[in-house]
Amino acid sequence: MMTSVAPVRSNTVTSGTYNTKLTEFVSVKKNKKVNVISSNRNRNSVKFRVRAVKLDHEVGADKTESLSDVTLKHVDWPSPSDDVPFWKRKFRTSDADPDVPVNIEKDSDLLHVIHVTAEMAPIAKVGGLGDVVTGLARACLLRGHKVDIMLPFYECIKKENIQELSLLSTYNSYYDGKWVETNAYSGIVSDIPVILVEPMNQFFKGEDVYGGSYNELEAYLFFSRACLEWMQVTGTQPDIIHVHEWQTGALPLLYWDMYHYLSLQKPRIVLTIHNMEHYGECRQEQLYKCGLDGSKYATIEKAIDDRTVGHNPERLSLLKGGIVYSNSVVTVSPTYLKETLCSGWLASALITNRDKYHGILNGIDTVMWNPACDVFLPANYHAQNTAGKKVCKQYLQRGLGLALEGSASSNHRVPLVVCISRLVAQKGLHLIRHAINHIEENGGQMIVLGKAPDGRVQTEFEALADLHNKGSTVRILLMYSEELSHMLYAAADMVLVPSVYEPCGLAQMIGMRYGSVPIVRKTGGLADTVFDMDDQSQPEMANGFVFEGIDEGSLNSALDRAFSYYQTKPIEWAKLVQKVMQIDNSWNKTAGKYIDVYNSIRVRW
Ligand code: ADP
Repeated sequence: MMTSVAPVRSNTVTSGTYNTKLTEFVSVKKNKKVNVISSNRNRNSVKFRVRAVKLDHEVGADKTESLSDVTLKHVDWPSPSDDVPFWKRKFRTSDADPDVPVNIEKDSDLLHVIHVTAEMAPIAKVGGLGDVVTGLARACLLRGHKVDIMLPFYECIKKENIQELSLLSTYNSYYDGKWVETNAYSGIVSDIPVILVEPMNQFFKGEDVYGGSYNELEAYLFFSRACLEWMQVTGTQPDIIHVHEWQTGALPLLYWDMYHYLSLQKPRIVLTIHNMEHYGECRQEQLYKCGLDGSKYATIEKAIDDRTVGHNPERLSLLKGGIVYSNSVVTVSPTYLKETLCSGWLASALITNRDKYHGILNGIDTVMWNPACDVFLPANYHAQNTAGKKVCKQYLQRGLGLALEGSASSNHRVPLVVCISRLVAQKGLHLIRHAINHIEENGGQMIVLGKAPDGRVQTEFEALADLHNKGSTVRILLMYSEELSHMLYAAADMVLVPSVYEPCGLAQMIGMRYGSVPIVRKTGGLADTVFDMDDQSQPEMANGFVFEGIDEGSLNSALDRAFSYYQTKPIEWAKLVQKVMQIDNSWNKTAGKYIDVYNSIRVRW
């Protein structure tokens, strides 16, 4: 059924051609690994830039160094009075020491996947969505698939962070009765091909990814259509269009009710839901603006928000429409899948679509998150030699003006807990607040790195920062900083994730990769990745401290058990640090499940 109300017209590409760009690992020799850093490939020629990186340069490889062996004197220790805060210093580029995972087998049956997304790490990242898109894309590239990421060319994206940026095409895309001139740029970000969509109107202008002075819902409706329009005018027919979250939830509707009747025949659609809380509330007249007849979608079977039935006006949900119209729907952990089938207003839509609904645990991008060669760390380290982690802790303590540990004796061990999070209710704000006091009272140190989109929460945390930041045990840092987040994961003894609900959660997985022991509430993906140290039923899985209630007492008991273990069992703690660092939570482990989903719906031409 075609429900387009806007004229659909053929479009002309005014410049550029579409080239595939990908990165591949080539080979590993005894003492060197040879990485393909990037390659430009068109249909007939493949040209690689290859560079050899000496494995010896990875700090401490195969050595048992102690802290004193690490070149402490070369560390440029920071101080709170530095003119330039230490996390804003100049870092060597991550390209200088890429660590592409070895032993990745290529798939034989290859796909072309285009992600359509509002976020991509690191150029346009607000939370886990950006990490997931980049990590999954890289894992699929490494398995030999062709992958592109389409995202809005936000004004805040720094052009210098995009390699080989070039105008690919200028075309028109429909919005609100007009055709808007739109540029599509190609480039490479963190070795992954991107296509950046830039309309010649006010959309996506502003200092941040979200929150510009334009209508966000309408901007993403425009973007969803502009991506399909670009595929149509360039004749690009991927096997899979992988959309994410409500922002791109209209794309499956536009595809099946409009573009599939035009020239796009081959693609099938996968929707990943990262968080059901954001469901893309949309009025019928807003859907009209991207060329769809909003009234046709206002049914229980399609896109109506069930809770608004009988209200005036009734509302649509782009996320629900995406669930109904996508060929496959994935959410980001098996436990969250179960939770979402049992509660929440979308449960009935998910139950109806149960056959195509999957729970696949997110991974982490082990190229971006690698303490052995992370460019933001003052000292690198790995599971066989964690000496550099102590340098990182001291570096943060000095830089932020926290007390340094007085003595090496176990009684004086001061656990450093970090909490790196968007400051929203979902993340357990009351528990974060409580943890600050409890940790301070119990001889630990705490650093919170977070940003609150809600002004009232921001003000409340500013007051907490005023209260606590003068002392030498707590720092509440209300900002977004990718660099600082890397340093904090490395410096921490423990990473706290006390979420009320958590679809997957990346902080606990990144924390473990950096040797920080997780303290988490048992919910969603946290329950799938962290297993309590005192759970006798599966001691081999034990990797952290888990609590169940959302009350302060439950949190206290997990914190107290973690502190006691840290302070009284330093040798066991060191082993635990090594253990969590070796847990494989990488995309390499889970990307195969996405590829199975892709293969289950692809059509062969
Ligand atoms: P969510 O997607 O709900 O925000 P996740 O745990 O899935 O939560 O992912 C959060 C990601 O965002 C992690 O990579 C985390 O390190 C990062 N992050 C959150 N807040 C900040 C911040 N203030 N500064 C830097 N990184 C942050």
